Amino acid sequence: MRCNECGGTYVPMRKPLQITDRYTGPLTVEGIEYLKCDRCGDYLFSPEAAKRIGEARAHALDTILQSQPLSAFVPAPIAADMLGISRQALHKHRRIRRGFIFQAGFGDKTVYLRESVLRFKAAGDGRFPLWSAEEQVEYAETQRVVPAVPYEPEQSRFEIEWAAAAHVTVEPKTHNTGGHAYAS
Ligand SMILES: [Zn+2]
Repeated sequence: MRCNECGGTYVPMRKPLQITDRYTGPLTVEGIEYLKCDRCGDYLFSPEAAKRIGEARAHALDTILQSQPLSAFVPAPIAADMLGISRQALHKHRRIRRGFIFQAGFGDKTVYLRESVLRFKAAGDGRFPLWSAEEQVEYAETQRVVPAVPYEPEQSRFEIEWAAAAHVTVEPKTHNTGGHAYAS
């Protein structure tokens, strides 16, 4: 198959896929097959592979959120108050349900990351990088042995940013300039 971007050829790949999620940082997805352009490095995924990548990203996000102290979260009534909407509206809000406010299960309840609620109120999108530049640098240094994957955010699909281990650097576009992401 020819690449639409550059006319190169897509080659089937089986090796673990190294990706950098905008919000949770570097992660590896193993056991999937995908196509990679031999010239520009563009990727193509089957629906099954895309689903697996989505699951891996969701799992990474949940893991990071579950590792936060409970004090960083607010329960639904407080989140609704902060947003100036009813609790029912909070539960029904489509963007919030889709994860535009970071949330985690706590027992049978859903709790909302306070910082994310504030950002959602201010900008309509409460998502922000939950990983730090320091971790990013560490990753780059420990992962140099991994075969490089070209870093081409413009060609990313499914909103994933691909990063070569050697090219993982602080990225102004998504870097959280507000310092460490977690509420103290
Ligand atoms: Zn190409």
